[in-house]
Formats: sequence, structure tokens, C-alpha cells
Amino acid sequence: MRTSQLLIPTLRHPPGEADIISHRLMTRAGMIRKVAAGIYTYLPLGLRVLKKIECIIRQEMNRAGAQELLMPILAPADLWRETGRWDFYGKELLRCQDRHARDFCFGPTHEEVITDLFRREIRSYRQLPLNCYQIQTKFRDEIRPRFGLMRGREFIMKDAYSFDADEAGARRSYQKMYTAYERIFTRCGLTFRAVEADNGLIGGSMSHEFMVLSETGEETIVYDERSAYAANVEQAAVPPPSDEDHAALLPLETVHTPGAHTVQEVCASLRVAPARLVKTLLYQTPAQEIIAVLIRGDHEANTTKLNRFCGTEGITLAQKDVVSNLSLAPVGFIGPIGLTGIRIVADHAVKAMRNFVVGGNKTDTHLIHANWGRDFAVEAFLDLRQARAGDPSPKSDSRLQEAKGIEVGHVFLLGTKYSEAMQATFLDASGHERAAVMGCYGIGVSRTAAAAVEQNHDDKGMRWPVPIAPFHIHLLPVTASENVLTTAGMVYDALTGAGMEVLWDDRDERAGVKFNDADLIGAPFHLLIGDKGLAQGIVEFKRRDTGDVVNLPPNEVLPHVQSLLAAYDLPNV
Ligand code: ATP
Ligand code: MG
Repeated sequence: MRTSQLLIPTLRHPPGEADIISHRLMTRAGMIRKVAAGIYTYLPLGLRVLKKIECIIRQEMNRAGAQELLMPILAPADLWRETGRWDFYGKELLRCQDRHARDFCFGPTHEEVITDLFRREIRSYRQLPLNCYQIQTKFRDEIRPRFGLMRGREFIMKDAYSFDADEAGARRSYQKMYTAYERIFTRCGLTFRAVEADNGLIGGSMSHEFMVLSETGEETIVYDERSAYAANVEQAAVPPPSDEDHAALLPLETVHTPGAHTVQEVCASLRVAPARLVKTLLYQTPAQEIIAVLIRGDHEANTTKLNRFCGTEGITLAQKDVVSNLSLAPVGFIGPIGLTGIRIVADHAVKAMRNFVVGGNKTDTHLIHANWGRDFAVEAFLDLRQARAGDPSPKSDSRLQEAKGIEVGHVFLLGTKYSEAMQATFLDASGHERAAVMGCYGIGVSRTAAAAVEQNHDDKGMRWPVPIAPFHIHLLPVTASENVLTTAGMVYDALTGAGMEVLWDDRDERAGVKFNDADLIGAPFHLLIGDKGLAQGIVEFKRRDTGDVVNLPPNEVLPHVQSLLAAYDLPNV
């Protein structure tokens, strides 16, 4: 295709609000344009990348035995009421009414709609297993849409749903999707890791997230090089500490700690290490219950684990006014001693401590030599803290390491949560009615494109992995001489005739402008045709990733590119 015939509005400078590299570069390269917060238009180059990712996904989903369908974006509220999610999903669910004042939502995910289809159409175990997928625009009214395509409100997702006759079958379906996801992200040219994850709002019993490893990732993962263990920190179990402090219990003492609100300030004021302090964090459940959580000073609380313990979603730190309504001390001085009327739970690490520092429930006051059991009661000691680098691995005797990741895919074993709520049943071989065992599997198509850029760029622009690049070859005539243009035309015809995707920069621009745009757009191979080279019978073939240049006679370009592309399983779009 010719540049002059494509809308590629490149920009020299990114818009001010573009906050991460993929957002900046995709905007500058004229691939996307923001319409409203978290809502984008995909321009021709951006759309080509999305189509390629979709094509790879389709091929691998079909290969794994899933079949494509397309559900509506709008879903009637009644279906969502059946599973309770109409109320539970909260503000992320964008709702609307039709002219008859009937409630609908813009689907953020489609368990309800597909389960409704299942219960209407499937009768017998002979029709199972069934796995259906779609690639579709989703809407989630994210509280903080940001990072361009990474966290949009409207975005493209592949979502698949499997139905099996029993748990063993569901696990097989899950494993097939897991394998398909590994193939998809490998074919997209991404460096990724599958990690154990929390099931969260969607429910069910097992899940893995596929993380593209990148410093700009919003997720933190921990892994252990020795075993295959890798998990989202939200999920990673922390075993109780193996060594306990057995020191004799010292008498409790009150100490004056003026203005010391934070762990650091208290530790500096008392000259103790953060590991000698226990912080008391007050959390509020969606049902407005307040719960006190005790965590060692140098550890972080994990709200996912806390939610799981409380059987809730969306537990948050209690607001300041809630804390003062309980007539407790200001934040920073709260402690477990004398805290009445609320539940107190503690992380395992606190159980191993003796004679520690706690807040004194009074302004500018802490207590030293506090001890659980003697000075206050703890309802339960649990795993409530975030795993971190250096913690022992739960699967081997080595230590955990940390990395940042972008969640591009998520597979869940759902069990019968939705099929039971919606009576999606079938008759088994002995004629008994049973609820189908489900799995669901998502891939953020638009997020995957952005993640690829986070992982593949330099200070000049993007460096698309070959299989998902908008074009394979960027053809760059350096001058507008007849010789150059004739050769460019010949090479273009030869390459496109052999099925290669060529972007021909036919604009009347200086070579420098063309080179800058080509580096920005990031096709994997650049072909520079100039008078000087042609005088010696050669054109320059440059790899965008390494910058390596080879000089080739024009008629050798095609076999050269063919041999390079032969290494890839390219999508057909
Ligand atoms: P996150 O924790 O990032 O909000 P999620 O757990 O809500 O993701 P899922 O419900 O599992 O995501 O959705 C499936 C996939 O859709 C995710 O793995 C991700 O790749 C993609 N996705 C989810 N939310 C967004 C969004 N706001 N913008 C773009 N892609 C998204
Ligand atoms: Mg989300």
C-alpha cells in the first residue's frame, strides 16, 4: 500500500496526557486517536495490528476445538439479575434503558448471555464438551481509564466459554485453552509468563493470568527460577515464618511518639527496625463492617487475601471519618490494645513476634513490648500479607523473585457458579439432570497490541514483532529520481505479488522525514532505495530491531525477505 493512500497522521510530539510509551508511540505513529477518556478510534495502521492479533487468536482457538460466534453487545438486565451480578458488578457496568424503560447493560463480559444460550439449546451430555468464543468490543466503565489501549473503557476482547459434563472434562478444556494461549502469545512474538491468579469477582476455583513482562506493567508477579512456580502477588501464598521469637514477655510500656504517623517515623523515633512493629490497619467491607488487620511493620497487607477471608469483594481501607466515628486515635496511632467491638485478625508473621511496638490508640502515643494473647486477643492468624522478592518459595527451597507484568489474558475454571444460578443443565448418560461445569477465557486484543509496543521499542519508535507488524516491509525511496521510482515500483510489485505486505512511502518528503516516520511506525524491515546505491546496483535492506543493513541487488530482495519470513507462522489477514 502507498502511504499517500492511507490515513497515517504521524505526529512529532505525543499529546501531553499520553502516559506510557505504547500510548505515546501509537498516537504519534497515527495508529490510534482518543475520542473520549478510555475510548479510541483505531486508524488503518492500528487496525491492521489488531486484525493480525485477532487472526492468530482465531487460528489457535479453532485449532483447540473452540467455535466462533458473536453475541450482542447489549444484554438485558434480567439475565444479569439471575446471577446477582446486576447489583454486584457495581459502577464498572455501564447501564442503559431502551424506549420502554427496560434495563440493559453494555457487556463487560458474557457469562450470562452464553449460559442463557446453553440452557436453551443444549440438552444432552452427547452435545458436550462445548467451547464457544467471540471477538468483540467490550465496555467497562473503568474508574481510571489510562495508559491508552492498556486500560480503556471500550476495548476489544476475545472471550471464550467452555461447558463440560464434569469437573475432569472442565479441567481438560481449561488445559486446552491454557496451551492455546501459550501458542497465541508466542506467535505474537511476546515474552510472557503464565501465573497463578485470583478468581475475584467472576468466581470459580482456579485461574491463570498471562503476563507480558514489562517494567510498565500494572501487575506484580513473583516467581521462583527453580520450580515452575509463578503467581500474581495478589494470589501468591506466603507460608508462616519458620522461626518464632521465644523471648520472655516484657512489661507493656507507653511511649511518647510526637508526630510519628508512619512506620518509618515511629521506627526512627524509637530506634527500632520496622520488623519490630505491628501496624493496625482498619478495613471496611462493602457491608460496612470494620475489621482490624495486624501486619508486621515491613510487610504490606494483601486485600485479595482479606477479601477471600471476609467472603467479600471490594474491601477498602476505612475512611478517616469512619475511624474517628469509632472514637479511635488518628490514623498512625491506632493499635489493637483496647480496640473493642470489631474483629481483629493478624498475619502469620505477627504470631511469631514477641515484645513488639503497636499504636497506643491515643494521639502521639505508642506502646512497646506488646504481646498478642497477653495484651489483646486475635481472632485468627492467617496469610494476609503480600508476597515479595526474597520470600521463600512455596514450591521449592529457593527464594522468590519479582517482576512487573501486563495482564493480556486470563483463564478461569468457573465450576457451576453460573450454570447453577441460571439452571444451565443437561441430561447425563443415566438420565440425571446436571449443571454444566464451565470455564471462561479472555484475551485483551487491544491491550495485547499495546503490550507488544511496551516490550518492543527504542527511542526512535516501535519495533513490531514480525507476525503482528502493520506491514512487513517499509519501502523508502530516498529521492524522487526516475531510476529510484522505477526500481521502487519493480520491487514493490515483486514483493506484493509474492504476498508480502509493503508500505511504500510515496510522499514527496525529505528522506529524513521518511526515515523518522519509518522508525516510528516500526515495520520490521526497511528497504532504502537511493541513486547512489543504484549506481552500484544495490538497495539497502535494514532490520528495524538490530539496525543491521545488508546491501542487495534489487532482484535479490524478494528471496531475502522470503527466507526471513519463513521463520514465522504468519497470520493471514
Ligand atoms: P484488570 O485486572 O487489568 O482490570 P480484569 O481481571 O478485569 O483485568 P478480565 O475480566 O479477566 O480482566 O478480562 C480479560 C482480559 O481483557 C484481560 O486479561 C485484559 O487483557 C483485558 N482487559 C480487561 N480490562 C481491560 C481494559 N479496561 N482495557 C483493555 N483491556 C482490558
Ligand atoms: Mg478489571
